[in-house]
Amino acid sequence: MFPATTYKGKRLAVFGLARSGTACIEALRLGGAEVHGWDDSAPAVEKARAAGLPVSDLHALDFRGLDALVLSPGVPLTHPDPHWTVLKARHAGIEVIGDTEIFAREAAAAGARMVAITGTNGKSTTTALTGHVLLEAGLDAEVGGNIGKAVFLLRQPVRGRVYVLELSSFQIDLMPGLRPDVGILTNLTPDHLDRHGTMDNYAAVKARMFARQGSGDTALCGIDDDWCAAIARRASATGADVRAVSVTGSLADGISAPDGVLQDRRNGALLAEIDLRPMPALKGRHNWQNACMAYGAARALGVGTEAIAAAMLRFPGLVHRMQQVARAGRIAFVNDSKATNADAAEKALSSFENIYWILGGIPKSGGIEPLRPLFGRVARAYLIGQAAEGFAATIGASLPTEICGTLDRAVAAALRDATSDGRPGAVVLLSPACASFDQYPNFEVRGDAFVRAVSQLPGVEMTIPGDAHAART
Ligand code: ADP
Repeated sequence: MFPATTYKGKRLAVFGLARSGTACIEALRLGGAEVHGWDDSAPAVEKARAAGLPVSDLHALDFRGLDALVLSPGVPLTHPDPHWTVLKARHAGIEVIGDTEIFAREAAAAGARMVAITGTNGKSTTTALTGHVLLEAGLDAEVGGNIGKAVFLLRQPVRGRVYVLELSSFQIDLMPGLRPDVGILTNLTPDHLDRHGTMDNYAAVKARMFARQGSGDTALCGIDDDWCAAIARRASATGADVRAVSVTGSLADGISAPDGVLQDRRNGALLAEIDLRPMPALKGRHNWQNACMAYGAARALGVGTEAIAAAMLRFPGLVHRMQQVARAGRIAFVNDSKATNADAAEKALSSFENIYWILGGIPKSGGIEPLRPLFGRVARAYLIGQAAEGFAATIGASLPTEICGTLDRAVAAALRDATSDGRPGAVVLLSPACASFDQYPNFEVRGDAFVRAVSQLPGVEMTIPGDAHAART
């Protein structure tokens, strides 16, 4: 915790008393601001009061005397309807901002640098990978925002320190001053339209990643979907160094990796090349996109290509997302517990071959029918949870299947078969395509149970600590 000095002497209301809100209140107060915290949840207010935080009923407070309303990113700014505090702020003509806006001002004032990352998919992976590469290259880097720690729980900004921040569209919506040294937009597909109304509005919010950038800044923008391609074209008017990123075709000017070999070109000249295919935690085209982004950010901050490649090879991956957790000879064990639907499981199935696939739980509508074209990559399937019988019926005679019921039985059976089949590059993959709630409280606990079950198998060497919580998040 450190003081937010840029608001010294100001008066602010902070709505939302969860972790990021309470950290922000502390920082503002330490910096000499007058702060009024509030929440719609009475227990949250009581907890904050008991912790000695300044709480005031914002219903009763006249917002005209305030400098800003600081809103938690979970609270509706526009859709489906503006929260009552937003209406009060608009009526009083005051700014509505987030903790990340205040933090960004602190960072800029201290001379720290910022890499900001957004997009519909790949935010967390790109953020963690970028942080990992910068740290391995010896830079003073901190990772947080929408992933991991709230910004005011990071170390205090100092000159030269680099903040790698994952930003949701809700956070960007609360950052009128956003101007990252390196801005990253991975991709855009319809998502969160409940909170943004239309795709146009959602894309307009994401486009703000680059809107205030200028000379000396870097904009890394995916161009493989039409929305991002249009945003990249507009960004070129800002004066920033705009780098297009594609994993579907090669680029004469930009960073591309259509076949898993990253190539950085300017005006047709090849500047650098990194083979991403051997990187254990960057399997699949979607991860090549994330790698291109992290490469572009690290280059913009002065890291050399060889150092980037070496760090990528050592990237441990994100917990529960296609993370290799162990090996038994030539057999790899991969935890993709975050794949709670067919769409997510499709990414994992497309990334490996000779798969011993553990799946099941509470099925989503449509089940695993959309994955049928990928069944050829699967050697055998092991079914757990409520979905077992239904999925066995969908798979039918396409694959050998075994109804195992529990994860423990499934991993043991998968190892037995992968060993006796002797296929090269076999992967025992937990990618359940289901929610976990029939057997576990959430996908994290399910992933941890997988890691524990694997660690108890004979002849297995863990590549992350047996307790998945000890691995990076
Ligand atoms: P986010 O933080 O944006 O939710 P993550 O990095 O946590 O993204 O990845 C979540 C899931 O999204 C992964 O398990 C994978 O299935 C998919 N994914 C990751 N990166 C990408 C990408 N660049 N494009 C499309 N899908 C991706």
